[in-house]
Amino acid sequence: MLYQPIVSNYYDFKVVRDQERCIKCQGCVTQCSFDANFWDQDREKIDTIHNKCIGCHRCEALCPTDAISIQHNPSKFRENGYWTKREIRNIYLNAEMGAIGLTGMGNDMTSQPAYFDRILFDACQVTNPSIDPLREPMELTTYIGNRGRQVSLETKAGPLLKLSTPIIFGPMSYGSINLNVQKALAAASKAHGTFWSTGEGGLHRDLYPFGPNTIVQVASGRFGVHEEYLKTGAAIEIKIGQGAKPGIGGHLPGEKVLEDVSKTRMIPLGSDAISPAPHHDIYSIEDLRQLIYALKEATRYEKPVGVKVSAVHNIAAIASGIARAGADIIVVDGYRGGTGATPTIVRDHTGIPIELAIAVVDERLRQEGIRENVGLIAAGGIRSAADALKAIGLGADAVYVSTAALISVGCTLCQQCHTGRCAWGITTNDPYLAKRQNPDIATEQVSNMLRAWEIEMKEVLGSMGLNAIESLRGNKERLRAVGMNEKEMATLGLKLAGEGM
Ligand code: SF4
Ligand code: SF4
Repeated sequence: MLYQPIVSNYYDFKVVRDQERCIKCQGCVTQCSFDANFWDQDREKIDTIHNKCIGCHRCEALCPTDAISIQHNPSKFRENGYWTKREIRNIYLNAEMGAIGLTGMGNDMTSQPAYFDRILFDACQVTNPSIDPLREPMELTTYIGNRGRQVSLETKAGPLLKLSTPIIFGPMSYGSINLNVQKALAAASKAHGTFWSTGEGGLHRDLYPFGPNTIVQVASGRFGVHEEYLKTGAAIEIKIGQGAKPGIGGHLPGEKVLEDVSKTRMIPLGSDAISPAPHHDIYSIEDLRQLIYALKEATRYEKPVGVKVSAVHNIAAIASGIARAGADIIVVDGYRGGTGATPTIVRDHTGIPIELAIAVVDERLRQEGIRENVGLIAAGGIRSAADALKAIGLGADAVYVSTAALISVGCTLCQQCHTGRCAWGITTNDPYLAKRQNPDIATEQVSNMLRAWEIEMKEVLGSMGLNAIESLRGNKERLRAVGMNEKEMATLGLKLAGEGM
């Protein structure tokens, strides 16, 4: 080989094949959507181009004789405490491509704290008895929206979303994920009395029957937005920002805009779907208010209208403005949130943790006496029932769960969603790959995850002596901090572990 890009010499994974066990079925060849495994006709054996392997583990998981193991490439970058492998490889990529590096999924940097991991629940003992969720009723029902604003001459609640569980599947557009996965999220939402969100890609005709469990999104590209779409959803969400890419727009490449995607998004077949970074009709809170009320008007004031923003440094003031603009729901999306595609530099260096954002927003809205006027949803990096409960303890009414839902149907977090070649058939519209997701099996997997989280939430609530999720909302007394400094604890409103009431 006369020339090989430097970056291809420093690959992460090696496909190790036990030749004794390999029966040459070539399953790993057909399963690899990145063309790493191939059948070598001359040598009559399967071989691998290791630098094409992105570590999705598909071939390993499906090998019938357990002959494959995906291992880290033992050849490491020369150790350097400052010039990390991540930095060096980015430069190699920049030098090769002359373009911005793209990635999928959320910020995975361990150098930035995961506050959820530094928060502990406070359990009951002796004088404050705990509750056994197997023997006593435990309520997870949550209402989201304006629970107290004056909307007419009589004070009454605005239109509310009723959730049987405080978990909603977060926005993932048709196009970024395929219809089979969206069907599973919609069906699981219906089965559990909760909601899923269309994301910015419109609503496929097949999913209209799930309208009562659907949040329809209106984003800057206005893809797929029309009157019937708005009226079909249970709630409307104006998307201003996304946690994984605060301040920038979206881009679904033309090759992913196949016939159904183009119809649903109402854009020409094969054209790039570009969402502008800002909404070109929103440059102030007053502009936002106009859109909120236009959407309420279009749906006869029967549906809650929410606004989704990225978690950024001035988020408390921004949320206050959104509440005063008339939104019924605010979604704050933290920097660990996933994405189908974003510049790596933005994903890894912009935004703030959802834990800090939700705590300061809840506090500000309470101080201003407008907390009950608006539902608050925490999004971006909710990995478990424990994270969900901690977000609610910090002030959220409910959480959006997206990446975890994808993991429940097989995602291995290989971060290659932007390539459109997802080997697990999730973030791809390739008909051959998309078939790897069977909507019925996927529905069962997502539903099982939700059911397990519900049981886990009830267990923890019971251990804290609470019999309703509502009692945990913003109840920071039931949480304690470990491994944080004073300023971090003050921002989160938490006491140190070991401190009493
Ligand atoms: S990319 Fe995935 S399927 Fe292909 S060799 Fe690597 S682990 Fe196996
Ligand atoms: S959705 Fe697919 S491509 Fe994206 S991280 Fe998961 S397995 Fe990888």
